[in-house]
Amino acid sequence: MIHQYKNNGYDIVLDVNSGSVHVVDDMCYDIIDYLNKLGVEDNMELLEQNETLEKMETDLGETYPVEEIAEAFEDIKELVKAGQLFTKDVYEEYIGEVKKRKTVVKALCIHIAHDCNLACKYCFAEEGEYHGRRALMSYEVGKKALDFLIANSGNRRNLEVDFFGGEPLMNWQVVKDLVAYGREQEKIHNKNFRFTLTTNGVLLNDEVQEFVNKEMDNVVLSLDGRKEVNDKMRPFRNGKGSYDLIVPKFQKLADSRNQQKYYIRGTFTRDNLDFSKDVLHFADLGFEQISIEPVVGEESDFYSIREKDLPQIFEEYDALAKEMVKREKEGKGFTFFHFMLDLDGGPCVAKRLSGCGSGTEYLAVTPWGDLYPCHQFVGEEDFLMGNVDEGITKPEIADEFRGCSVYSKEKCKNCFAKFYCSGGCMANSYKFHGSIHNAYDVSCEMERKRVECAIMIKAALADKERV
Ligand code: SF4
Ligand code: SF4
Repeated sequence: MIHQYKNNGYDIVLDVNSGSVHVVDDMCYDIIDYLNKLGVEDNMELLEQNETLEKMETDLGETYPVEEIAEAFEDIKELVKAGQLFTKDVYEEYIGEVKKRKTVVKALCIHIAHDCNLACKYCFAEEGEYHGRRALMSYEVGKKALDFLIANSGNRRNLEVDFFGGEPLMNWQVVKDLVAYGREQEKIHNKNFRFTLTTNGVLLNDEVQEFVNKEMDNVVLSLDGRKEVNDKMRPFRNGKGSYDLIVPKFQKLADSRNQQKYYIRGTFTRDNLDFSKDVLHFADLGFEQISIEPVVGEESDFYSIREKDLPQIFEEYDALAKEMVKREKEGKGFTFFHFMLDLDGGPCVAKRLSGCGSGTEYLAVTPWGDLYPCHQFVGEEDFLMGNVDEGITKPEIADEFRGCSVYSKEKCKNCFAKFYCSGGCMANSYKFHGSIHNAYDVSCEMERKRVECAIMIKAALADKERV
Protein backbone atom coordinates (compact mmCIF):
# COMPACT_ATOMS: atom_id res chain seq x y z
CA MET A 1 0.00 0.00 0.00
CA ILE A 2 1.29 3.41 -0.98
CA HIS A 3 0.36 6.71 0.60
CA GLN A 4 1.68 9.89 -0.95
CA TYR A 5 1.19 13.50 -0.01
CA LYS A 6 2.80 16.92 -0.17
CA ASN A 7 3.57 18.86 2.97
CA ASN A 8 5.74 21.89 3.69
CA GLY A 9 7.34 21.68 0.24
CA TYR A 10 8.20 17.98 0.50
CA ASP A 11 6.82 15.29 -1.81
CA ILE A 12 6.53 12.29 0.46
CA VAL A 13 5.86 8.67 -0.45
CA LEU A 14 5.15 6.18 2.32
CA ASP A 15 5.30 2.49 1.54
CA VAL A 16 2.92 1.40 4.26
CA ASN A 17 3.80 -2.26 4.62
CA SER A 18 7.57 -1.82 4.80
CA GLY A 19 7.36 1.54 6.58
CA SER A 20 9.82 3.03 4.05
CA VAL A 21 9.57 6.75 3.56
CA HIS A 22 10.83 8.38 0.35
CA VAL A 23 11.21 12.09 -0.18
CA VAL A 24 11.12 12.52 -3.95
CA ASP A 25 10.87 15.17 -6.66
CA ASP A 26 7.65 16.00 -8.49
CA MET A 27 8.38 13.69 -11.38
CA CYS A 28 9.07 10.63 -9.23
CA TYR A 29 6.02 11.49 -7.18
CA ASP A 30 3.83 11.50 -10.26
CA ILE A 31 5.37 8.32 -11.66
CA ILE A 32 4.78 6.42 -8.43
CA ASP A 33 1.23 7.71 -8.37
CA TYR A 34 0.81 6.63 -11.99
CA LEU A 35 2.13 3.13 -11.28
CA ASN A 36 -0.02 2.82 -8.21
CA LYS A 37 -3.14 3.71 -10.14
CA LEU A 38 -2.11 1.27 -12.84
CA GLY A 39 -2.31 -1.49 -10.23
CA VAL A 40 1.38 -2.37 -9.97
CA GLU A 41 0.97 -3.46 -6.38
CA ASP A 42 -1.26 -6.35 -7.43
CA ASN A 43 0.55 -7.09 -10.65
CA MET A 44 4.31 -6.68 -10.40
CA GLU A 45 4.76 -7.94 -13.95
CA LEU A 46 3.59 -4.57 -15.17
CA LEU A 47 6.94 -3.19 -14.07
CA GLU A 48 8.77 -5.37 -16.58
CA GLN A 49 6.46 -4.78 -19.55
CA ASN A 50 7.63 -2.35 -22.22
CA GLU A 51 4.11 -1.03 -22.66
CA THR A 52 4.12 0.28 -19.11
CA LEU A 53 6.98 2.66 -19.85
CA GLU A 54 5.57 3.57 -23.25
CA LYS A 55 2.17 4.35 -21.83
CA MET A 56 3.70 6.37 -19.03
CA GLU A 57 5.88 8.35 -21.45
CA THR A 58 2.80 9.18 -23.48
CA ASP A 59 0.73 10.19 -20.48
CA LEU A 60 3.41 12.08 -18.52
CA GLY A 61 5.55 13.17 -21.49
CA GLU A 62 3.89 16.56 -21.73
CA THR A 63 4.97 17.40 -18.20
CA TYR A 64 8.41 15.76 -18.01
CA PRO A 65 11.19 14.89 -20.54
CA VAL A 66 10.75 11.25 -21.63
CA GLU A 67 14.38 10.28 -21.08
CA GLU A 68 14.12 11.47 -17.46
CA ILE A 69 10.92 9.48 -17.00
CA ALA A 70 12.73 6.34 -18.18
CA GLU A 71 15.61 6.99 -15.79
CA ALA A 72 13.33 7.61 -12.82
CA PHE A 73 11.37 4.47 -13.71
CA GLU A 74 14.58 2.44 -13.40
CA ASP A 75 15.27 3.96 -9.96
CA ILE A 76 11.76 3.12 -8.86
CA LYS A 77 12.19 -0.47 -10.00
CA GLU A 78 15.33 -0.66 -7.85
CA LEU A 79 13.34 0.45 -4.80
CA VAL A 80 10.76 -2.22 -5.53
CA LYS A 81 13.51 -4.86 -5.75
CA ALA A 82 14.97 -3.63 -2.46
CA GLY A 83 11.61 -4.15 -0.73
CA GLN A 84 10.95 -0.45 -0.18
CA LEU A 85 8.08 0.22 -2.53
CA PHE A 86 4.86 -1.64 -3.41
CA THR A 87 5.61 -4.21 -0.72
CA LYS A 88 3.19 -6.85 0.47
CA ASP A 89 1.61 -6.96 3.91
CA VAL A 90 3.68 -9.39 5.94
CA TYR A 91 1.86 -8.70 9.19
CA GLU A 92 -1.51 -10.08 8.25
CA GLU A 93 -0.25 -13.63 8.60
CA TYR A 94 0.77 -12.93 12.20
CA ILE A 95 -2.65 -11.86 13.26
CA GLY A 96 -3.74 -15.35 14.33
CA GLU A 97 -0.73 -15.50 16.63
CA VAL A 98 -1.39 -12.01 17.94
CA LYS A 99 -4.93 -13.04 18.86
CA LYS A 100 -3.80 -16.24 20.54
CA ARG A 101 -0.79 -14.76 22.28
CA LYS A 102 -0.61 -15.16 25.99
CA THR A 103 -0.59 -11.77 27.61
CA VAL A 104 0.44 -10.73 31.09
CA VAL A 105 -0.65 -7.64 32.95
CA LYS A 106 2.10 -5.04 32.69
CA ALA A 107 0.40 -1.88 33.80
CA LEU A 108 -2.30 -0.65 36.12
CA CYS A 109 -4.07 2.64 36.19
CA ILE A 110 -4.91 3.06 39.85
CA HIS A 111 -7.85 5.35 40.46
CA ILE A 112 -6.61 6.51 43.78
CA ALA A 113 -9.22 9.27 44.09
CA HIS A 114 -12.59 9.62 42.45
CA ASP A 115 -12.75 13.17 43.59
CA CYS A 116 -11.36 16.39 42.21
CA ASN A 117 -10.67 19.95 43.27
CA LEU A 118 -11.27 21.34 39.78
CA ALA A 119 -14.45 21.25 37.73
CA CYS A 120 -13.16 20.79 34.18
CA LYS A 121 -15.97 21.12 31.70
CA TYR A 122 -15.03 18.15 29.51
CA CYS A 123 -13.99 15.82 32.32
CA PHE A 124 -14.81 12.21 31.34
CA ALA A 125 -14.53 11.46 35.03
CA GLU A 126 -17.43 13.86 35.62
CA GLU A 127 -15.43 16.13 37.90
CA GLY A 128 -13.90 13.07 39.49
CA GLU A 129 -17.11 11.22 40.21
CA TYR A 130 -17.03 8.64 37.40
CA HIS A 131 -20.77 8.06 37.01
CA GLY A 132 -21.05 7.25 40.67
CA ARG A 133 -19.98 8.03 44.14
CA ARG A 134 -17.01 10.08 45.15
CA ALA A 135 -14.44 7.81 46.75
CA LEU A 136 -10.84 7.60 47.82
CA MET A 137 -8.98 4.31 47.51
CA SER A 138 -7.93 2.79 50.82
CA TYR A 139 -4.40 1.55 51.45
CA GLU A 140 -5.80 -2.01 51.74
CA VAL A 141 -7.40 -1.93 48.28
CA GLY A 142 -4.27 -0.32 46.80
CA LYS A 143 -2.07 -3.05 48.27
CA LYS A 144 -4.30 -5.73 46.77
CA ALA A 145 -4.07 -3.97 43.41
CA LEU A 146 -0.27 -4.09 43.51
CA ASP A 147 -0.40 -7.74 44.62
CA PHE A 148 -2.74 -8.49 41.71
CA LEU A 149 -0.32 -6.85 39.30
CA ILE A 150 2.65 -8.81 40.61
CA ALA A 151 0.71 -12.08 40.55
CA ASN A 152 -0.51 -11.56 36.97
CA SER A 153 2.70 -10.23 35.45
CA GLY A 154 4.40 -13.56 34.67
CA ASN A 155 8.09 -13.09 33.99
CA ARG A 156 7.74 -9.45 33.19
CA ARG A 157 10.05 -7.43 35.44
CA ASN A 158 9.16 -3.81 34.74
CA LEU A 159 5.66 -2.96 35.86
CA GLU A 160 3.94 0.36 35.31
CA VAL A 161 1.61 1.91 37.85
CA ASP A 162 -0.16 5.17 37.13
CA PHE A 163 -1.73 7.00 40.06
CA PHE A 164 -4.72 8.54 38.42
CA GLY A 165 -7.94 10.24 39.40
CA GLY A 166 -9.92 12.48 39.74
CA GLU A 167 -7.01 14.12 41.44
CA PRO A 168 -4.49 11.76 43.09
CA LEU A 169 -3.05 14.42 45.38
CA MET A 170 -6.39 14.39 47.23
CA ASN A 171 -5.34 10.97 48.52
CA TRP A 172 -1.62 11.66 48.76
CA GLN A 173 -0.80 9.74 51.93
CA VAL A 174 -2.15 6.52 50.36
CA VAL A 175 -0.08 7.17 47.22
CA LYS A 176 3.06 7.46 49.35
CA ASP A 177 2.20 4.38 51.38
CA LEU A 178 1.57 2.36 48.24
CA VAL A 179 4.88 3.43 46.73
CA ALA A 180 6.60 2.25 49.93
CA TYR A 181 4.69 -1.04 49.75
CA GLY A 182 5.62 -1.45 46.09
CA ARG A 183 9.31 -0.83 46.82
CA GLU A 184 9.19 -3.51 49.50
CA GLN A 185 7.41 -6.02 47.27
CA GLU A 186 9.56 -5.48 44.21
CA LYS A 187 12.59 -6.79 46.08
CA ILE A 188 10.75 -9.91 47.18
CA HIS A 189 9.36 -10.69 43.72
CA ASN A 190 12.22 -9.41 41.56
CA LYS A 191 10.09 -6.72 39.93
CA ASN A 192 10.69 -3.08 39.19
CA PHE A 193 7.81 -0.67 39.63
CA ARG A 194 7.75 2.39 37.43
CA PHE A 195 5.34 4.82 38.99
CA THR A 196 3.59 7.70 37.26
CA LEU A 197 1.54 10.46 38.83
CA THR A 198 -1.08 12.31 36.84
CA THR A 199 -2.03 15.58 38.53
CA ASN A 200 -3.80 18.88 38.01
CA GLY A 201 -1.21 20.55 40.24
CA VAL A 202 -3.58 22.32 42.63
CA LEU A 203 -2.09 20.61 45.69
CA LEU A 204 1.44 20.38 44.34
CA ASN A 205 3.99 21.67 46.89
CA ASP A 206 7.66 21.19 47.76
CA GLU A 207 7.02 18.03 49.73
CA VAL A 208 5.10 16.46 46.84
CA GLN A 209 7.75 17.56 44.37
CA GLU A 210 10.55 16.02 46.39
CA PHE A 211 8.72 12.71 46.71
CA VAL A 212 7.76 12.68 43.04
CA ASN A 213 11.33 13.33 41.96
CA LYS A 214 12.58 10.51 44.13
CA GLU A 215 9.96 7.91 43.29
CA MET A 216 8.03 8.68 40.10
CA ASP A 217 9.41 7.62 36.79
CA ASN A 218 7.02 9.94 35.03
CA VAL A 219 4.64 12.79 35.90
CA VAL A 220 1.76 13.94 33.78
CA LEU A 221 0.80 17.56 34.40
CA SER A 222 -2.64 18.61 33.25
CA LEU A 223 -3.01 22.12 31.82
CA ASP A 224 -4.69 23.33 28.63
CA GLY A 225 -2.50 26.11 27.31
CA ARG A 226 -3.04 29.86 27.24
CA LYS A 227 -4.56 31.38 30.36
CA GLU A 228 -7.90 32.24 28.79
CA VAL A 229 -8.20 28.78 27.23
CA ASN A 230 -7.24 26.95 30.38
CA ASP A 231 -9.37 28.99 32.71
CA LYS A 232 -12.48 28.61 30.63
CA MET A 233 -12.30 24.81 30.59
CA ARG A 234 -10.43 24.11 33.84
CA PRO A 235 -11.94 26.32 36.55
CA PHE A 236 -12.20 25.67 40.26
CA ARG A 237 -15.61 24.70 41.54
CA ASN A 238 -16.25 28.37 42.37
CA GLY A 239 -15.64 29.29 38.74
CA LYS A 240 -12.23 30.90 39.27
CA GLY A 241 -9.47 29.99 36.80
CA SER A 242 -6.64 27.65 37.79
CA TYR A 243 -3.84 28.86 35.47
CA ASP A 244 -2.13 31.39 37.75
CA LEU A 245 -1.88 28.99 40.64
CA ILE A 246 -0.67 26.03 38.65
CA VAL A 247 1.72 27.27 35.99
CA PRO A 248 4.57 28.35 38.30
CA LYS A 249 4.37 25.03 40.17
CA PHE A 250 4.53 23.04 36.95
CA GLN A 251 7.45 25.10 35.67
CA LYS A 252 9.33 24.49 38.89
CA LEU A 253 8.62 20.76 38.82
CA ALA A 254 9.60 20.37 35.16
CA ASP A 255 12.88 22.22 35.75
CA SER A 256 13.60 20.18 38.87
CA ARG A 257 13.36 17.08 36.66
CA ASN A 258 15.73 18.63 34.09
CA GLN A 259 12.85 18.80 31.61
CA GLN A 260 12.81 14.99 31.43
CA LYS A 261 10.44 12.24 32.44
CA TYR A 262 7.30 14.29 32.58
CA TYR A 263 4.92 15.78 30.16
CA ILE A 264 2.48 18.59 30.24
CA ARG A 265 -0.83 17.42 28.85
CA GLY A 266 -3.64 19.55 27.58
CA THR A 267 -6.88 19.04 25.75
CA PHE A 268 -8.12 21.18 22.89
CA THR A 269 -11.77 21.69 22.14
CA ARG A 270 -13.86 23.47 19.55
CA ASP A 271 -13.31 26.56 21.65
CA ASN A 272 -9.60 26.67 20.84
CA LEU A 273 -9.27 25.15 17.41
CA ASP A 274 -6.18 27.35 17.12
CA PHE A 275 -4.50 24.96 19.55
CA SER A 276 -1.08 25.22 17.91
CA LYS A 277 -0.87 28.51 19.83
CA ASP A 278 -1.37 26.58 23.06
CA VAL A 279 1.37 24.13 22.21
CA LEU A 280 3.73 27.00 21.43
CA HIS A 281 2.60 28.78 24.58
CA PHE A 282 3.78 25.74 26.57
CA ALA A 283 7.08 25.77 24.71
CA ASP A 284 7.45 29.50 25.42
CA LEU A 285 6.82 28.84 29.11
CA GLY A 286 9.87 26.56 28.99
CA PHE A 287 8.17 23.16 28.82
CA GLU A 288 9.95 20.68 26.57
CA GLN A 289 7.66 17.63 26.79
CA ILE A 290 4.25 18.55 25.48
CA SER A 291 1.02 16.79 24.65
CA ILE A 292 -2.22 18.44 23.59
CA GLU A 293 -4.95 16.18 22.35
CA PRO A 294 -8.42 16.65 20.94
CA VAL A 295 -11.31 16.39 23.35
CA VAL A 296 -13.71 13.52 22.86
CA GLY A 297 -17.23 14.57 23.65
CA GLU A 298 -20.81 13.84 22.70
CA GLU A 299 -22.12 15.49 19.53
CA SER A 300 -24.31 17.65 21.74
CA ASP A 301 -21.46 18.96 23.91
CA PHE A 302 -20.66 22.56 23.02
CA TYR A 303 -16.95 21.87 23.09
CA SER A 304 -16.80 18.63 21.05
CA ILE A 305 -14.92 18.47 17.76
CA ARG A 306 -17.12 18.19 14.66
CA GLU A 307 -16.29 16.97 11.22
CA LYS A 308 -16.56 20.51 9.90
CA ASP A 309 -13.73 21.57 12.23
CA LEU A 310 -11.26 19.23 10.57
CA PRO A 311 -9.90 21.59 7.87
CA GLN A 312 -8.92 24.12 10.52
CA ILE A 313 -7.42 21.42 12.72
CA PHE A 314 -5.35 20.15 9.80
CA GLU A 315 -4.03 23.65 9.17
CA GLU A 316 -3.08 23.90 12.82
CA TYR A 317 -1.16 20.63 12.76
CA ASP A 318 0.62 21.75 9.59
CA ALA A 319 1.54 25.11 11.09
CA LEU A 320 2.74 23.46 14.28
CA ALA A 321 4.86 20.92 12.42
CA LYS A 322 6.46 23.66 10.37
CA GLU A 323 7.23 25.75 13.44
CA MET A 324 8.66 22.73 15.25
CA VAL A 325 11.10 22.10 12.41
CA LYS A 326 12.13 25.75 12.54
CA ARG A 327 12.64 25.74 16.30
CA GLU A 328 14.51 22.44 16.23
CA LYS A 329 16.90 23.81 13.62
CA GLU A 330 17.41 26.91 15.76
CA GLY A 331 18.29 24.71 18.77
CA LYS A 332 15.01 25.49 20.56
CA GLY A 333 13.26 22.21 19.89
CA PHE A 334 10.64 20.50 22.03
CA THR A 335 8.79 17.21 21.94
CA PHE A 336 5.16 17.13 20.88
CA PHE A 337 3.90 13.74 21.92
CA HIS A 338 1.49 13.31 19.02
CA PHE A 339 4.17 13.82 16.41
CA MET A 340 6.40 11.16 17.91
CA LEU A 341 6.75 8.30 15.51
CA ASP A 342 9.19 5.47 15.37
CA LEU A 343 9.92 5.05 11.70
CA ASP A 344 12.62 2.48 12.31
CA GLY A 345 10.48 -0.46 13.22
CA GLY A 346 8.35 0.89 16.02
CA PRO A 347 7.13 -1.33 18.80
CA CYS A 348 6.80 -5.11 18.55
CA VAL A 349 4.41 -6.66 16.03
CA ALA A 350 1.67 -7.28 18.59
CA LYS A 351 1.79 -3.68 19.71
CA ARG A 352 1.85 -2.38 16.15
CA LEU A 353 -1.23 -4.38 15.34
CA SER A 354 -3.26 -4.12 18.48
CA GLY A 355 -2.28 -0.91 20.19
CA CYS A 356 -2.60 0.29 23.72
CA GLY A 357 -3.07 -3.07 25.45
CA SER A 358 -6.20 -2.06 27.31
CA GLY A 359 -8.15 -5.03 28.65
CA THR A 360 -5.17 -7.35 28.42
CA GLU A 361 -1.85 -5.81 29.41
CA TYR A 362 -3.22 -2.63 30.88
CA LEU A 363 -6.14 -2.43 33.31
CA ALA A 364 -7.76 0.21 35.50
CA VAL A 365 -8.66 -0.30 39.15
CA THR A 366 -11.42 1.71 40.83
CA PRO A 367 -11.15 3.01 44.42
CA TRP A 368 -13.15 -0.01 45.60
CA GLY A 369 -11.01 -2.48 43.67
CA ASP A 370 -13.03 -3.25 40.52
CA LEU A 371 -11.07 -3.97 37.35
CA TYR A 372 -11.89 -2.44 33.96
CA PRO A 373 -10.07 -2.54 30.58
CA CYS A 374 -8.86 1.04 31.01
CA HIS A 375 -9.74 4.31 32.70
CA GLN A 376 -12.19 5.26 29.95
CA PHE A 377 -14.31 2.16 30.56
CA VAL A 378 -14.64 2.70 34.30
CA GLY A 379 -18.32 2.71 35.22
CA GLU A 380 -19.41 0.84 32.05
CA GLU A 381 -20.80 -2.22 33.80
CA ASP A 382 -20.57 -4.43 30.70
CA PHE A 383 -16.81 -4.06 30.94
CA LEU A 384 -16.40 -4.91 34.61
CA MET A 385 -13.76 -7.64 34.38
CA GLY A 386 -13.26 -8.62 38.00
CA ASN A 387 -11.79 -7.17 41.15
CA VAL A 388 -8.61 -7.19 43.18
CA ASP A 389 -9.95 -9.85 45.56
CA GLU A 390 -11.00 -12.44 43.01
CA GLY A 391 -8.85 -11.37 40.05
CA ILE A 392 -10.25 -11.55 36.51
CA THR A 393 -13.67 -13.14 36.71
CA LYS A 394 -14.65 -12.42 33.12
CA PRO A 395 -11.74 -13.54 30.94
CA GLU A 396 -14.01 -13.31 27.91
CA ILE A 397 -13.71 -9.53 28.12
CA ALA A 398 -9.92 -9.79 27.92
CA ASP A 399 -10.32 -12.20 24.98
CA GLU A 400 -12.44 -9.67 23.15
CA PHE A 401 -9.82 -6.97 23.62
CA ARG A 402 -7.05 -9.36 22.62
CA GLY A 403 -8.89 -10.08 19.39
CA CYS A 404 -9.06 -6.40 18.54
CA SER A 405 -6.49 -5.34 15.97
CA VAL A 406 -6.06 -3.37 12.77
CA TYR A 407 -7.21 -6.50 10.95
CA SER A 408 -10.38 -6.93 12.97
CA LYS A 409 -11.52 -3.45 12.01
CA GLU A 410 -12.78 -2.95 8.49
CA LYS A 411 -11.82 0.71 8.49
CA CYS A 412 -8.24 0.05 9.50
CA LYS A 413 -7.46 -2.56 6.87
CA ASN A 414 -6.98 0.01 4.16
CA CYS A 415 -5.74 2.87 6.29
CA PHE A 416 -2.21 4.06 5.66
CA ALA A 417 -1.73 4.96 9.32
CA LYS A 418 -2.54 1.51 10.66
CA PHE A 419 0.94 0.54 11.81
CA TYR A 420 1.44 3.82 13.65
CA CYS A 421 -2.03 4.16 15.08
CA SER A 422 -2.57 0.46 15.78
CA GLY A 423 -6.31 0.74 15.41
CA GLY A 424 -7.14 3.74 17.51
CA CYS A 425 -8.78 4.01 20.88
CA MET A 426 -11.18 1.19 21.71
CA ALA A 427 -12.94 3.34 24.28
CA ASN A 428 -13.74 5.97 21.64
CA SER A 429 -14.88 3.30 19.25
CA TYR A 430 -17.22 1.93 21.89
CA LYS A 431 -18.48 5.37 22.76
CA PHE A 432 -19.41 6.26 19.19
CA HIS A 433 -20.24 2.90 17.67
CA GLY A 434 -21.16 0.65 20.60
CA SER A 435 -18.36 -1.76 19.66
CA ILE A 436 -14.63 -1.82 20.29
CA HIS A 437 -14.04 -3.22 16.79
CA ASN A 438 -14.71 0.00 14.98
CA ALA A 439 -13.01 3.40 14.78
CA TYR A 440 -14.23 6.91 15.38
CA ASP A 441 -13.87 8.69 12.04
CA VAL A 442 -13.17 12.20 13.29
CA SER A 443 -10.32 10.85 15.44
CA CYS A 444 -9.02 8.83 12.50
CA GLU A 445 -8.84 11.90 10.27
CA MET A 446 -6.80 13.71 12.91
CA GLU A 447 -4.58 10.70 13.50
CA ARG A 448 -3.79 10.40 9.80
CA LYS A 449 -2.92 14.09 9.65
CA ARG A 450 -0.59 13.74 12.65
CA VAL A 451 1.18 10.78 11.05
CA GLU A 452 1.70 12.83 7.88
CA CYS A 453 3.08 15.76 9.87
CA ALA A 454 5.35 13.51 11.92
CA ILE A 455 6.85 11.98 8.80
CA MET A 456 7.32 15.42 7.26
CA ILE A 457 9.18 16.57 10.38
CA LYS A 458 11.57 13.63 10.12
CA ALA A 459 12.13 14.38 6.44
CA ALA A 460 12.71 18.07 7.10
CA LEU A 461 15.14 17.45 9.95
CA ALA A 462 17.11 15.05 7.79
CA ASP A 463 17.27 17.71 5.07
CA LYS A 464 20.49 19.62 5.67
CA GLU A 465 20.04 21.82 2.61
CA ARG A 466 16.93 23.65 3.70
CA VAL A 467 17.31 25.81 6.76
S1 SF4 B 1 -6.54 6.06 11.87
FE1 SF4 B 1 -8.51 5.02 12.20
S2 SF4 B 1 -8.75 3.68 10.43
FE2 SF4 B 1 -6.61 4.25 10.58
S3 SF4 B 1 -5.62 2.63 11.73
FE3 SF4 B 1 -6.19 4.26 13.16
S4 SF4 B 1 -8.19 3.66 13.93
FE4 SF4 B 1 -7.83 2.48 12.08
S1 SF4 C 1 -8.77 2.20 24.92
FE1 SF4 C 1 -8.37 4.34 24.47
S2 SF4 C 1 -8.45 5.43 26.43
FE2 SF4 C 1 -8.26 3.24 26.84
S3 SF4 C 1 -6.04 2.93 27.09
FE3 SF4 C 1 -6.56 2.48 24.97
S4 SF4 C 1 -6.19 4.40 23.87
FE4 SF4 C 1 -6.33 4.88 26.07
